[in-house]
Amino acid sequence: MNEKRTVLITGASRGIGRALAMAFGENGDNVVVNYRRSEQSAQTIVEAIKKAGGDALALKADVSDFDEAKTLVEQTIEHFGSIDVLINNSGITKDTLMLRMKEEDFDDVINVNLKGSWNMIKHVTRPMFKQKSGRIINISSVVGLIGNPGQTNYVASKAAVNGMTKSLAKEYGKKNITVNAIAPGFIETEMTDALSDEIKDAYRAQIPLNRFGKTDDIAKTALFLASKDAGYITGQIISVNGGMV
Ligand code: NAP
Repeated sequence: MNEKRTVLITGASRGIGRALAMAFGENGDNVVVNYRRSEQSAQTIVEAIKKAGGDALALKADVSDFDEAKTLVEQTIEHFGSIDVLINNSGITKDTLMLRMKEEDFDDVINVNLKGSWNMIKHVTRPMFKQKSGRIINISSVVGLIGNPGQTNYVASKAAVNGMTKSLAKEYGKKNITVNAIAPGFIETEMTDALSDEIKDAYRAQIPLNRFGKTDDIAKTALFLASKDAGYITGQIISVNGGMV
């Protein structure tokens, strides 16, 4: 097990975020389970982590709001004393073809997926610079690498997160802070449950391993990127997609 760290995970109330929270909690780390609406579910995860021997705290914040993101960081430091790992996992989709996409569909997705990640990184920067260490992991997406019809808003947000990751790795290297992204392929969560069977079959046909990924596939990759063993990895977009790309 690694030294006990404080890990702040945005959007940890379900899906990939829940798997991330449980993996770090079971590793013995202090975990902040951020949520926007699903308070009950976030509290259940906190209890499960405590049962597994870790420590955790649920904190409500909309990461797309600059001030709420700031408060989230401040509350984490107040409670646990530091932030060693930030995982920007919160994400939303508002899929539709360009012809039908409304301006607010674009703005909402960019505000949560891109601006939310930027807000969180902005606010952890000073504390991480001060402690001269840190790990930042952004959850982007395979479609940010290859594009996808019906997702111009989402793909733009995830491609931008990849670019931001590479730029920040160059800025933060001197401060002993690594910045990487994980680009998941099709992972079974509520986000993907919403798709029709027809679309799911079409995705599966593009996956050489011929199955969808599990949330644990992403959690295990994040555990590695946050570990001492990954100390020389920065500015990378790690694909976890069953061979899709
Ligand atoms: P999910 O099941 O829909 O969960 C999304 C999480 O984000 C929830 O915890 C939600 O909190 C939180 N969230 C949404 N808006 C937020 C906001 N403004 N502020 C704070 N939290 C917010 O999604 P998922 O499938 O686990 O996806 C997690 C991440 O992986 C996303 O960034 C997604 O784009 C990425 N990803 C997923 C897949 C996949 O196949 N599932 C593939 C590639 C990339 P509440 O429950 O409180 O609303």
